[in-house]
Amino acid sequence: ATPTAIVVGTGRGAEMGVFFKSGEHLESLHQASVVLLDKTGTITIGQPVVTDVLLLKHKYVRTKSDLLRFAGSAELPSEHPLANMLVTFARTHASLCEPAHFSAFGGRGIRAVIEGHVVLVGNAELMREHNIQQQMPWQKQDWETTGKTVIIIAVDGVIAGLIAISDTVHPSSAQAIAKLKRMGLEVMMVTGDNAQTARAMAADVGIQHFYAELSPEDKVCIVRHLQRQGRKVAMVGDGINDAPALASADIGIALGTGADVSVAAADITLISGDLQGVVHAIELSKATMRNIR
Ligand code: ADP
Ligand code: MG
Repeated sequence: ATPTAIVVGTGRGAEMGVFFKSGEHLESLHQASVVLLDKTGTITIGQPVVTDVLLLKHKYVRTKSDLLRFAGSAELPSEHPLANMLVTFARTHASLCEPAHFSAFGGRGIRAVIEGHVVLVGNAELMREHNIQQQMPWQKQDWETTGKTVIIIAVDGVIAGLIAISDTVHPSSAQAIAKLKRMGLEVMMVTGDNAQTARAMAADVGIQHFYAELSPEDKVCIVRHLQRQGRKVAMVGDGINDAPALASADIGIALGTGADVSVAAADITLISGDLQGVVHAIELSKATMRNIR
C-alpha cells in the first residue's frame, strides 16, 4: 500500500476506535483466514455474576456463610476477574480474612490456608491435581450445559460446595461472528473454561469450532498449529492469559477494556471492547488494500 493509503486507513480506524500499532498491521490483516476468539471478556461482557450456591455435607463447612467465608478469603489475593467477583459476593454474606498462604494455578484456580484449613477454589482440573477424586454433584453438569462456569470449593481435601457463575454474552457478539463468517473467515473459540460451558456458549453465538480447558500456552499451540497449516491467524482476546497467544498470532487484537499486558502484546486495539470492532478492522484492511492495487 502507498504511504498515503496507510495514513488514511489508520486515521479512519482511529475514528472508529480501531487502533493499529503500525501500518504493517493494517496491510496484513486482510490476509487472515481464521479468527480465534477468547470467550470470557471477549465474546462475553466479562462481568460474571453468581447465580447459584450449592452447599455439600462437610465437617467444617456447615453453612453457606462458612462456604463463602472460605472461598472469598482464599480469593482475596487473586487478581483473576472471577476472584474479584467472588470476593465481592462473599463479602455480602460473611466477613473475610487474609489467607496465611496463597498460590495461584494459572487457568485452574487458587490454593490458600484459612483458619488452618487448606482451601482450594477453582475448576475440576485443580481438584484432580490435588488428588481429590470425589464425584461431582449432578448440579455441576446441569449448570455447565446452560453455559455457566462452576467454581468448586474444597476444604482439607473434601469438596464443600459449588458456586455457579454466569457471564452475559455481549449484545453484538453473535452478529459480529455471523458477519466474519459471511466474509469467508473461519471463526473459532479458545477458552480456559471447561468443555461443557464452552459448548453451550459456542452454540449460543453460532460458533462450530471451539477449544476448551486451555492454558495460556495451549492457546499459543493452537495458533502455531494453524500457522503450520499455512493459515494467517488473527487472535482476539482481553486477558493476561491471552497475551502469549496475541503475541504469537499473525495479528493480535486486544480489547481496550482488557488487561494492559494484552494491549501491549497486540497489534491492534479495539477501544469499544466488542467484536464489531474486529469486523471494522478487517473491512478497513480490505478497503485499504483494494485502493492500492
Ligand atoms: P478464559 O480463557 O475463559 O478467559 P481463564 O484461563 O482465566 O479463562 O480461567 C480458566 C478457568 O480456570 C476458569 O473458568 C475457572 O474455572 C478457573 N480459574 C482460574 N482462576 C481462578 C480463580 N482465581 N478462582 C477460581 N477459578 C479460577
Ligand atoms: Mg478473557
